[in-house]
Amino acid sequence: MAKPFASSADLGEKRQSLEVLAPGVYALTAEGDPNVGAIEGEDFLVCFEALATPVAARAWLARLREHTDKPVRYLVLSHYHAVRVLGASAFGADLIVTHERTRGLIAERGEQDWASEYARMPRLFQEPDSIPGLTWPTVTFSDRFTIDLGGGRGDLVLQYCGRGHTEGDLVAWLPQQRIMFAGDLVESQAALYTGDAFHRDWASSTLDRVASFGAETLVGGRGAVARGEAGVAAAIGQTRDFLTVMLHETRAAGSLKEAFERTHRALEPRYGKWPIFEHCLPFNVSRLWDELHGVERPRIWTAERDRQVWDELQS
Ligand SMILES: [Zn+2]
Repeated sequence: MAKPFASSADLGEKRQSLEVLAPGVYALTAEGDPNVGAIEGEDFLVCFEALATPVAARAWLARLREHTDKPVRYLVLSHYHAVRVLGASAFGADLIVTHERTRGLIAERGEQDWASEYARMPRLFQEPDSIPGLTWPTVTFSDRFTIDLGGGRGDLVLQYCGRGHTEGDLVAWLPQQRIMFAGDLVESQAALYTGDAFHRDWASSTLDRVASFGAETLVGGRGAVARGEAGVAAAIGQTRDFLTVMLHETRAAGSLKEAFERTHRALEPRYGKWPIFEHCLPFNVSRLWDELHGVERPRIWTAERDRQVWDELQS
């Protein structure tokens, strides 16, 4: 029987858990659906990631409002993917912050990515008509952007760590609390999506940079919160291992189809049961094949190209 396209048949609601990681630091995880977070400043909030639609974002904000009624001054978006940014209008943020390359990606391929992700993961797009249009940052930076939280709460540091999950990912780091929000640069017990990735940079210098902060708590893009130095190391290690296996198997293959089959066989025993594994793998291997054959920047995913790659590799 043919496998249903991407996550189109994944319609079961996930249980969301709001966790208070430290005073005024919140994470909402959802059994492998995209994670979001929030950090309290003295008299304002920083929200991290926006979910796929304003309706989905409003449900998260309603839970956050059980803890704090401070206004949202900053909405920080880790990268350009639709399921993390298109709910932005619900936050009423004064400023929307991304890496400068994320602004470029939104301009270049935001529309196509929206259509692609909607078809791949329809369940995440609650009331898609509530999306007013593409989300545009109002502030961008190239290396580091620091927010003073005020009132002895320390800083929130937004840091670019190199090319990885996309060419414009940032991490959000709380040095005082040693908590990191890593976006999709790190997944904890969830499969990686690498269809827009730079695998060689990500598996080496970029993850080295992420690890160098010495986080004691890490919220990845999907999956459970990683706790303690060992838990953080395990999440980063899993992410690196997934990439390393992909690189090894795809380098050894003589065709795209063989690369997919080898990679699937090698990853499946350890990662096959994790969220979005089957969904992502055809897109992942397709991009890695390109990367290893001289295609510098990821080709744009469109709803049509998604179907072609799926039919070629996963059917
Ligand atoms: Zn992503």
